[in-house]
Amino acid sequence: MERLEFRELFEAAPDGVLVTDSEGTIVLVNQQTERMFGYRRDELVGMRIEILIPERFRPHHPTHVTGYTRSPRARPMGSGLALAGRRRDGTEFPVEISLSPIASSGGEMVAAAIRDVSDRKRVEDEARRANAYLRSAVDSIQDAFSLFDDQDRLVLVNSAFRELIGPVVGGAVVGRPFEDMLDHALELVECRGDPAHVRASWLAYHRAPAGAFELELRDGRALRIIDRATADHGTVSLIMDVTEDRSHSSELLRARKQAEAANDAKSEFLASMSHELRTPLNAVLGFAQLLQRDRKQPLSDRQQERVEHVVRGGEHLLRLIDDVLDLSRIEAGGVTISTEPVNVREVLDEVTNTLEPLAARVNVQLAVAPMQHVPTVVADRTRLAQILMNFGSNAIKYNRPGGHVTFRITRDDAMVRVSIADTGIGIPVDKRARIFEPFNRAGQESGPIEGTGIGLAITKRLAELMEGSVGFVSEAGRGSTFWVEVPIDSASGLARAAGKPAVSSSPLATMESRRKVVYVEDNPSNIAFMRELVEDIPGIDLITAPSAEIGLDVIRAHQPALVIMDINLPGISGFDAVRQLKDSSETRAIPVIALSAAALAKDTTRAREAGFDRYLTKPVRVDELTAVLEELLT
Ligand code: ADP
Repeated sequence: MERLEFRELFEAAPDGVLVTDSEGTIVLVNQQTERMFGYRRDELVGMRIEILIPERFRPHHPTHVTGYTRSPRARPMGSGLALAGRRRDGTEFPVEISLSPIASSGGEMVAAAIRDVSDRKRVEDEARRANAYLRSAVDSIQDAFSLFDDQDRLVLVNSAFRELIGPVVGGAVVGRPFEDMLDHALELVECRGDPAHVRASWLAYHRAPAGAFELELRDGRALRIIDRATADHGTVSLIMDVTEDRSHSSELLRARKQAEAANDAKSEFLASMSHELRTPLNAVLGFAQLLQRDRKQPLSDRQQERVEHVVRGGEHLLRLIDDVLDLSRIEAGGVTISTEPVNVREVLDEVTNTLEPLAARVNVQLAVAPMQHVPTVVADRTRLAQILMNFGSNAIKYNRPGGHVTFRITRDDAMVRVSIADTGIGIPVDKRARIFEPFNRAGQESGPIEGTGIGLAITKRLAELMEGSVGFVSEAGRGSTFWVEVPIDSASGLARAAGKPAVSSSPLATMESRRKVVYVEDNPSNIAFMRELVEDIPGIDLITAPSAEIGLDVIRAHQPALVIMDINLPGISGFDAVRQLKDSSETRAIPVIALSAAALAKDTTRAREAGFDRYLTKPVRVDELTAVLEELLT
């Protein structure tokens, strides 16, 4: 060390270097040692080496020193142990030390190179901690997780993966190639077809993963595998058990099927119930109307009043049946809306004409606010009219004597709105939220105004089916404004000028000769009703037949001007009978009216298809039947 270059080298060494004699007394230190331990050189030289060791290691250290000097060789100190240095201020720091013996003139000496590894330790600790976090995160994934490197070898798995695959693989899994795992995993899989095919598709999915890959296991479980490529050309794979999800969705499917079946049964029940109710109601309403119109033995005022009650009650019941049927059909999705360009003004005029007598009876004034250019809308004409009728009749019903109802048409870019403002009782605030729910009468249930609480529910559903909407504003005691909006027909510009069709009236009474009408019906009270009805109409000879078989003979023999046919007959049905009539050149030209208690839309369609010229439902409305007779006979 006398030579200058050695001295400089010694001082410039990045490690702390010190030399002790064979007893462990420090004889030489470099600058780095001073810096590392915080002592000056003169404070160290001559001291025992233990000064640089934490106190707890000091008692045993001299033994290590003598141990080393007995068999000296260059080696790292305390290999595998965490060594620590002690600074002058008592703080400790991790070190690595390598020892080498030096033979010198002064006897055996030991050189120790000491490196402060605090920074490296910290980085290592951090990496270890991060790794531990990662592993525990991966392990907490409930699905089986695995990570493959760019060589497709397993580098990381979690315990769910080990549980799933471990038993079939046996031994360590990490390090194994994917295809190796695949072969083992296939032992678990239920292969309905060719196992080689399953293997090939799984492998293909793993190589180019998109979406998910599903498998059924021998033990009945179902697995979904989701693989994704990582940025460094590896693959992560998640295997999840979807057995329960599957059984849930099949349960849901089953439940839905059951619900649909129940709903169909409900619709059928409602249809047949309505049929059963309509038949007796037919007799009740029919005879009551005949009593009212009986010119030979007119009723007394008292009797008229009582019969009026019967008719009103019957009509209410009929409305209820119709509404329930209508709503249940809409809810079962059985109502198809057929939209077309519709002139709103025309529909509104028809509705107000129909409502006029109703309004007049309770002394309510109807008015339509003027509007010039009403655009054509896209709507189902009949259903739009039904909505306006519902709103309009409510506006009259829930009005007051001397009140007003004003219809107004307004528009924006996309929609036409028809609003119906009344000066009636209004709707209390707490009743407004649920007013469009079926059977909700918003406090009117115990009041004197008749209703079923279904009208608004139907109205809302119908508007929605037409891509429209409904709404209202109301002030209790002052009145309400209900509105419906339907989309403007963008294809056709402005509405055509509204022209009302001319109504031709040609009463039966002016018929020159008598006409034969054959009525095919098995129910005696219906026959009696029809007899009495036509008795009041001059010029008609009624011939009745109790079954379709007899009816067909009678019709061929008499060649009547018109046939009225019940549908549900004891032998062949009304449908079959009308088909036979329309198939034969002898009878094809004779108009046939169907008279049935079945009121579903599909019945009407079926009747038209079968060849009926008109389809009327029971209970017969006398005015309606008379009008049809007039039309077909004159
Ligand atoms: P209802 O057969 O009872 O008239 P709706 O469904 O048509 O059934 O109406 C539900 C309820 O909403 C009615 O019972 C009534 O209380 C209230 N309502 C409807 N329209 C009006 C209106 N224009 N003014 C006040 N109340 C109304």
